[in-house]
Amino acid sequence: MKTLLIALVALSMTSALPAKKKAYICTDLKSQTYHWDELCKELEKCKYEVKETTEAEAKDQQKRLCKVCKENEKKKDEVKQ
Ligand SMILES: [Zn+2]
Repeated sequence: MKTLLIALVALSMTSALPAKKKAYICTDLKSQTYHWDELCKELEKCKYEVKETTEAEAKDQQKRLCKVCKENEKKKDEVKQ
């Protein structure tokens, strides 16, 4: 049982690693945010092309995580616990 718990913890830690996490950005130059959710309502406002990238790359471009996506992730975490 303990082994299973350790495996689960290790797994959740791996998924928390931001390096290869997918992110979506609006190609509008004025857009300064990136999104975790492709269907984010903030991303829907984008009048330009939506590009799939990684979180690391988005951060390299000085983009911040969208507030809506951040809230959604928090809610997901609450459900898990
Ligand atoms: Zn978003």
